[in-house]
Amino acid sequence: MTHTSKQFSSPFFEIRELAQGVFAVLGDREGLCHSNAAIVDLGDRTLVFDTLTLPSYGDDLARACRELTGRDPCWVAFSHYHADHFLGNQSFPTSTPFMVTQAMLAPMDESMVQYQGIIDDPDGFKQELDDFTATCEAEEDANKRKAMSINLARYQALYRDLGKLRIVRPNTIFEGKMVLSGSKRTAELIEVAHAHTVSDVYLRLPNEGICFMGDLGFFDTIPFLGYADPLHWIGTLREFESSAMTTFVPGHGVVGGTDKVTLERECIEAIVAAVGEVLASGEEVTGVLGERLPEPFRSWEGDGRFNLMNYRAVAKSIHPDSQD
Ligand SMILES: [Zn+2]
Repeated sequence: MTHTSKQFSSPFFEIRELAQGVFAVLGDREGLCHSNAAIVDLGDRTLVFDTLTLPSYGDDLARACRELTGRDPCWVAFSHYHADHFLGNQSFPTSTPFMVTQAMLAPMDESMVQYQGIIDDPDGFKQELDDFTATCEAEEDANKRKAMSINLARYQALYRDLGKLRIVRPNTIFEGKMVLSGSKRTAELIEVAHAHTVSDVYLRLPNEGICFMGDLGFFDTIPFLGYADPLHWIGTLREFESSAMTTFVPGHGVVGGTDKVTLERECIEAIVAAVGEVLASGEEVTGVLGERLPEPFRSWEGDGRFNLMNYRAVAKSIHPDSQD
């Protein structure tokens, strides 16, 4: 297919047109806008999938949607309930259907209540931020300090954006599968229970072989397993690997092919194996367990923010009676 690729410039993310009218919105993984989203032109209507991590990024996403497809979205759908995928909601018209699964609803509501609390008490949040800044500066372990400083920078960005933040709740609920048809293409929202979270949705474009994975996908970076069922997640990735889909956009990380999905699956398998070894030997599950991972996964650990939470969650799923 030959066409002129459409351009949109934002300081927060990069846009890649994967097929005509199919745009991957790729946050800067090392930076503050660290999750991905999608804009899909179905011909006579547009779908946005996830709204990024802050109102300012949502503003640019909404602007990109209008500039690239000529309209506001007809639907905004969500990959899962984590806030780094929905804090750009207020940038879209409130009349938009904001679509989630039934199982996402309660945990998303819980998270939204917490953010409403921050909106209602900005001074309290500022105090927490100052306390966390002091803790971060006092941390002597360089790795821990690095991990904390990334979180700190993201909280500071949230504080700067707080005046714009409004909580926009989902208003359209589905279960299992939703098919959205336009004049040029069809998009499918498909629910996977108990993988990255209790309910994840991926966006499949069957005719283009493109899959927007939400947080079922973490490419070239350690997946966040804190609320996951790792074994079921591994099974889901195996299904992706043997599917007809050829282009995968993760919730965090770069666009890739099936090889990236395989590598992600092998990473989760390596973590499960390492945690299993530790449990079998009677040792304690600690944050440095990643030293046992083979490369390239050991290098992916990067800032190490997820480590301890990941390992404890995996331990719990292997042996439900293991210690928190
Ligand atoms: Zn997530």
